[in-house]
Amino acid sequence: MSIYLLFSILVSYLVWIKCIYCRHRRTLVKSLKRAINVSSINETNNSGIKALIVTAHPDDECMFFAPTIIRLSELNVSVHLLCLSEGNYYNQGPDRQKELLNSCAVLGIPTSRVTIVDHKNLPDDPKAEWSVSLVSAVIVKHMRAHSFNMVLTFDGRGVSGHANHIAIHKAVSHLAYTGQVPNDCSLLSLVTVGLLRKYFSFLELPISWLLPSHLCFITGSQGYSQAKAAMLCHRTQLLWFRYLYIVFSRYMFVNTFELISQGPKNLKIY
Ligand SMILES: [Zn+2]
Repeated sequence: MSIYLLFSILVSYLVWIKCIYCRHRRTLVKSLKRAINVSSINETNNSGIKALIVTAHPDDECMFFAPTIIRLSELNVSVHLLCLSEGNYYNQGPDRQKELLNSCAVLGIPTSRVTIVDHKNLPDDPKAEWSVSLVSAVIVKHMRAHSFNMVLTFDGRGVSGHANHIAIHKAVSHLAYTGQVPNDCSLLSLVTVGLLRKYFSFLELPISWLLPSHLCFITGSQGYSQAKAAMLCHRTQLLWFRYLYIVFSRYMFVNTFELISQGPKNLKIY
């Protein structure tokens, strides 16, 4: 194969990515409104929408949800974060809390919209089994206090397979199944992709775009710089492989979500 042919294929692929990005920007608001059931949105600037991201540890917000937070903030959606631990696995909890607040500020979430849970039964520990009923209770209390239109969290594989991430998905699914989710609130889970796609950087974008999903968020070069700056706020976590993650992880560029289906309202489980 000639070098010219290879070059043409590469350029065409990059142009395709650019076209997908432009189309995504044009259609995002429509997709967002399709994914949530809201009646009180300000049609001109989306300021009626409130979104909650539920994570397990400080740094989950930028490692896995940065494209979502950045895009929603750009659309004037009121984005909140509920982080269910202070990340105390190596006894760095207080430092990690500060890093989380700095990272959120970079991504567009003010400190007043960040809630960090410090509960002895929700330790930052991959070997700890978080109680589904406890996690559900914490999340539903927060949801009812703020009337969110959408809650976004991990799927059943937790992106990295961390037990604490998976426990959150189980808790949110439990709320959905038992009808405890307030009306007008959609639940969405972040799709976990295989290893090859996960580390294919922005080149993975066409695959995410072509495969069906309920909602997709893509960052451009400016958004990527924001996501990278947020990652760098987590100084206690900056080991060499974090730098590789910043370059190669597709979660720095794209997030895809599936809707979590909800059961009948106020179902009692005996
Ligand atoms: Zn985590």
